[in-house]
Amino acid sequence: MNRETLLAQAGARRDVFGAVSMPIYQTATFAHPALGQSTGYDYSRSGNPTRTALEETLAQLDGGARACTFASGLAAIDAILRLFQTGDEIIVTEDLYGGTFRLFEKIYRQIGITAIYVDTSDTAAVAAALTKNVKAIFVELPTNPLLKVADLTALAALARDRQALLIVDNTFLTPALLRPIEHGADLVVYSGTKYLSGHNDIIAGAVVAKTAELGERLYFYQNAAGAILAPLEAWLFLRGLKTLALRVERAERNALAVAKMLARHPRVKKVHYAGLPTDAGYERLKKQASGAGAMAAFSVDDPALVPAILANVKVFIFAESLGGVESLITFPAVQTHAEIAPEIRERLGITDRLLRISVGIENVHDLVADLESAINN
Ligand SMILES: *Cc1c(COP(=O)(O)O)cnc(C)c1O
Repeated sequence: MNRETLLAQAGARRDVFGAVSMPIYQTATFAHPALGQSTGYDYSRSGNPTRTALEETLAQLDGGARACTFASGLAAIDAILRLFQTGDEIIVTEDLYGGTFRLFEKIYRQIGITAIYVDTSDTAAVAAALTKNVKAIFVELPTNPLLKVADLTALAALARDRQALLIVDNTFLTPALLRPIEHGADLVVYSGTKYLSGHNDIIAGAVVAKTAELGERLYFYQNAAGAILAPLEAWLFLRGLKTLALRVERAERNALAVAKMLARHPRVKKVHYAGLPTDAGYERLKKQASGAGAMAAFSVDDPALVPAILANVKVFIFAESLGGVESLITFPAVQTHAEIAPEIRERLGITDRLLRISVGIENVHDLVADLESAINN
């Protein structure tokens, strides 16, 4: 089955009574048919049919052996990091989601699991950073907020040589546009809060494992530590997934139009969007993904313009997060990336002139006109 079909029918054909919409099994526990027997479900931390429907759909979409869903994207990343031990090092994309940076720096560094930050769009820089203790390469593609594009096939080869895992945070592109396992990734992680569920109404996370062995280890941790996705959230996630292909297609078309306007605007100094042929990541992304998605960033010529834009927008909503049907605008230096030290932010280019946009599915003319007039005012 093609992805669009899998998505549209997410959760269908599973219910014993034929419910087309997978029911919400809002139950904590399940009766045992007899001593020593189980329906397959015993207790909802260990497993719940609504969550299973979602997890099997996600595993299928990415071509993985198994998926586990969690209460948030960060809980999903935390489950992955539990695979490592004191003394291990992990090469990590240098401009990445601020919450992931905080998890590495404030939780895992203390227990001796060390992140080495590298520009993962520079394969040679990754190769140079590979010490004998490196057990994984953790990549965001495209990066957040600068939208740089890594070469997954090359990174997978480097990881394989060292028997290290390649982990891809595919929150921005989703399996609708990129399936990292096909390019050699071992684990794919998502904030399901974003495009996958797509309506800015739940917090959720997921990990897809390429092998059953890795899937089993993640499942063990999911059950043992318990940061599971609840049945209602799993249902909302499934319901959002059904329209993923349509939403991503429309949002990407809108994003390209907005990016073109920004690229022409005299007060915009740089646009970061791999869907523009002039972008550094354009050719490389085209080889790996079927689209550039709908996340973009741009820097303006004067920091004083930033608060004015945030105050002037009427269609874009000034809010953190991304990947929903509504277009959002964020100021990374003070919002999503506030956890990163100012000197590192400055070196990376996450400056006081940089704004990030998540383009939604609204009317394209409304979006282009809104941002253009907010910059002009
Ligand atoms: C939002 C986000 C996360 C964290 O997910 P939560 O659901 O907020 O916990 C991780 N990675 C990326 C790229 C994100 O955008």
